[in-house]
Amino acid sequence: MRIAVTGGKGGTGKSMVATALAHELGKRHKVLLMDMDVDCPNDHLILNIKRKKALDVRQMIPVLDKKKCIKCGRCAEVCRENAVAHVKGQHPIFVLDQCIGCKACMIACPVGAISAGERVSGHVYTGNGLVSGEIVPTQKEGSPVVNAVKEFESGEGYDFVVVDTAAGTHCTVIAALLGCDVALAVTEPTPLGACDLGLILDLLNVLKVPGKIVLNRAGIGDRSTVDATAKEKGFDVFAEVPYSKEIMKQYTRGEPVTHEAIKKMAEKLEAME
Ligand code: SF4
Ligand code: SF4
Repeated sequence: MRIAVTGGKGGTGKSMVATALAHELGKRHKVLLMDMDVDCPNDHLILNIKRKKALDVRQMIPVLDKKKCIKCGRCAEVCRENAVAHVKGQHPIFVLDQCIGCKACMIACPVGAISAGERVSGHVYTGNGLVSGEIVPTQKEGSPVVNAVKEFESGEGYDFVVVDTAAGTHCTVIAALLGCDVALAVTEPTPLGACDLGLILDLLNVLKVPGKIVLNRAGIGDRSTVDATAKEKGFDVFAEVPYSKEIMKQYTRGEPVTHEAIKKMAEKLEAME
């Protein structure tokens, strides 16, 4: 079973849940943890795993041949990332930090003045039951790194694969969610948590990935907005993790959280197998 641990909002405890679940399930099963929060992967820090670089992720970048270029500006018109600046009568300027390597400019150029160059846009790391992707700072689009992680390690042969996604509902999150059997949407009992929960639940509906809500830090704040969002979107609160000093201490010590709530959540997931 491939389980995504996701959440519309950052800071809700997504990585805590992902690492704790992987650890708990790993006591009885063959488990792989995939850290696809490529902008800021931290599962290796939480689990105190020393990662080793397995491969570089390469991305196409446009290379301009000024001798061929007729300064028509078509490349700037088609670039949806605003990575090409063009002033009438001048050669285009490529802003490579904005470029996602889609090749639209190359395809649209009427005289073949753009060729495909390459740069390293991220890395894939491995270590003790973990595969982790990390984007190179300044790179804009994380989904190619997520896809590289998935190509590098399909997860075949494992009983459970736990996928820790980035927060939000952007392409990087979508790339990580695709192919998952179930997604745990981690939220917190605050109005902002409920608002972003609504967004991720809508995304799960669009992607047709069955979703379950995990209410973290249950017991603080007012959960009524989370319950109302769950009801409105037609999802259940699958599990609750209380706000507890014990959890905070384990987390800050760089240990997987072993709270009873995590054990119960793991058992419910095992029952779904
Ligand atoms: S490859 Fe795509 S993103 Fe990059 S400059 Fe060309 S059109 Fe823009
Ligand atoms: S589309 Fe080709 S020819 Fe036109 S400005 Fe861009 S690189 Fe030059």
